[in-house]
Parts: sequence; C-alpha cells; structure tokens
Amino acid sequence: RTVYVNGQYLPEEDANVSIFDRGFLFADAVYEVTSVLDGKLIAYDGHVERLWRSLKELDMAAPCTPDELLEIHRELVSRNGIDEGLVYLQVSRGSDGDRDFVFPGAETKPTLVLFTQNKPGLADNPAAKKGAKIISVDDIRWGRRDIKTVQLLYPSMAKMMAKAAGCDDAWLIEDGHVTEGTSNNAYIVKGGKIITRPLSNDILHGITREAVLRFAAEAQMEVEERLFTIDEAKEADEAFTTSASAFVMPVVEIDGVALGDGAPGSVAPRLREIYIDEMRKSAI
Ligand code: PLP
Repeated sequence: RTVYVNGQYLPEEDANVSIFDRGFLFADAVYEVTSVLDGKLIAYDGHVERLWRSLKELDMAAPCTPDELLEIHRELVSRNGIDEGLVYLQVSRGSDGDRDFVFPGAETKPTLVLFTQNKPGLADNPAAKKGAKIISVDDIRWGRRDIKTVQLLYPSMAKMMAKAAGCDDAWLIEDGHVTEGTSNNAYIVKGGKIITRPLSNDILHGITREAVLRFAAEAQMEVEERLFTIDEAKEADEAFTTSASAFVMPVVEIDGVALGDGAPGSVAPRLREIYIDEMRKSAI
C-alpha cells in the first residue's frame, strides 16, 4: 500500500512519524474517513468542511489547502487501485521534539497522514441485510464530541463490550438518553417517524446524518430531531445507524430485545438504497 505522510507518497513500511508527535502522546489530533465507491470519493465536501471546523475548534493549523487535500485523496485512491473502500486522514498538532502539555508554537508544523483501506463489498454489505445487534453502555466520553478527535479509546472499549456480549456495536447512554453509537449516529423509527438526537456538542455532526435526513425529507418521510431514551428505542418499530463507512445500517436488537420482527424494517433499507444511489451520482 502507498500511504501519504507530510508531503510524501511512500510504501507503508517506509512511512514514519516522530515518537514525540502530539497525536501519539496526547491524542492531540483530528481525523476524517471518506468512503470510495466506483473509485470516487463520496460526500467529500462535507468531510473537508468538518475537518476545517475541527482544526479551528482546537486552534490547530491546517496542514495544506483544501485543493491539495483533494489531490492527495485522489492520488492515493488511484495509486492503490481502490474501487470500494475508505480514505483515512489524520492531522495532529505535530511535535517540537519534546513532551509538554503546553501547545508548541506556531512554527511547529502539523503532521498530515493519509492511507486507504480496500473494502470490496462496501455497498453490497451482507451485514446490512442481517442488521446489527447492539448493547447500551454509559457514555463517559468528554464534552466536545462534535470535534472529531482521535480520542477513540472509550468507543473502542465499548465495541469490545459489545463483542463480548455477542453483539456488533454499542449505543452510548447519557442521562437515560441515547447520544450516538461508538462510531455512528443513532436513529429510531416509530409509527413511520424517524427520530434522532439534535446536533449539539454531545454528538458528532455526522456527514452521513446530514445527507440521510435530507433524503428522508425529500422522500416525504417524517423526521423529528429530539432526545430519545434507550427504553423508547427498545419499543421502536425499527432503528438504524449512519456513518461514512457503513452508510445506513439497520439495528435489529437492543440489549437482547428484538425490534419489530427482529429483521431490518422498511425505512432503514430504503434509506440505505437511496443514500448509496445518491452518493454514486454525486461522487467526485
Ligand atoms: N458519531 C461518531 C462518534 C463517529 O465516530 C462517527 C463516524 O466516525 C459518526 C457519528 C458518523 O459520522 P459520519 O457520518 O460523518 O461518518
């Protein structure tokens, strides 16, 4: 695999970053994941806009221009022959060669790393036909979940708890309400209405969420943005998650309680189809 590090395209085994990099020492880094369908980037503009927002919120310098970033994405997709897959990008605050809680000065350059992941079958994913089984766990993350930082230890632990329980993923609960999934936004469907938590600092402002809610409204589906409890979710007709890498994923079981007849309902699979169709059309 060819990867990108700070201006260079290199074989992955030749790529390296300083052990003093603040991404490594302090999780002082932000990231984005963009999917590739038919060899093209989907929802790309949204990811770049959110990256610039994350950088601004953390007072981190941009590593390059948006045009350069698009060029790097395309070059990696092409060099690695990705038809369906992901491009991961990470910007960290870099390093001035020591460990210090205080941010280094403006002369310290951010570290920019990108790599691709080949995922044939991303669109035609058998897991989406089966639906996901999830567990609920306490949301003990920090209070700025709207910033897409690489502080992913707790989501990773929550996913391990799900695996240990024989499930696929976890939804995170704060004051009885669902915030989001470990790496996705969460939705329930009741009486045909799609319910999802409103945007705030409590959740990541999903790029897929934005598109899916727009497509739902265009298809005359009713959408309500409000808090919902995990108990309400267990009594819902359907549930699903959205993310850049899994698109729309039906949820069929929560904490051992089957939703509806325990198979994906009608709303989530329909939204998945619309989303993938629209993304193929607007891919760049
Ligand atoms: N919420 C969290 C915590 C995430 O990590 C992600 C994606 O990584 C999402 C939501 C979904 O965001 P997007 O649709 O932009 O991938």
